[in-house]
Amino acid sequence: MADQVIHRTKLFNGQAVEEVHFDAVFKGARCAGCGSEKCAIRIQTFIAIADIKDQRVRDEVFDSVLKGKLKPTPTTSGPGVRAGESFACASCRKEAEIAAARCPSYVIVVIDKLVEADKPTIQVV
Ligand SMILES: [Zn+2]
Repeated sequence: MADQVIHRTKLFNGQAVEEVHFDAVFKGARCAGCGSEKCAIRIQTFIAIADIKDQRVRDEVFDSVLKGKLKPTPTTSGPGVRAGESFACASCRKEAEIAAARCPSYVIVVIDKLVEADKPTIQVV
């Protein structure tokens, strides 16, 4: 077993890393700008529950978490909830990133870019 040569095409049930990433994150998604199925970026926004200023809204979020309607996500500011998710294709990517950068300061933006074939996933500058 230790002498067995593992080829790249044999990993992940015969799928390359790019294909596994696409299936896990981008499969079935459509670009918010033009409707294309070839999405290249996913933008998720999270809000920490402690950062919700309105007490009534915060109570509703707590109630939804307790009832299982919302799944709390760990953030840098404590437990939070996902406020939104959006996809964009390579053509609409720049506008999507600009829109994400305009979010209020209390919104945590997570950007997931599609791993492209023949490009390193880690770059050293
Ligand atoms: Zn697009």
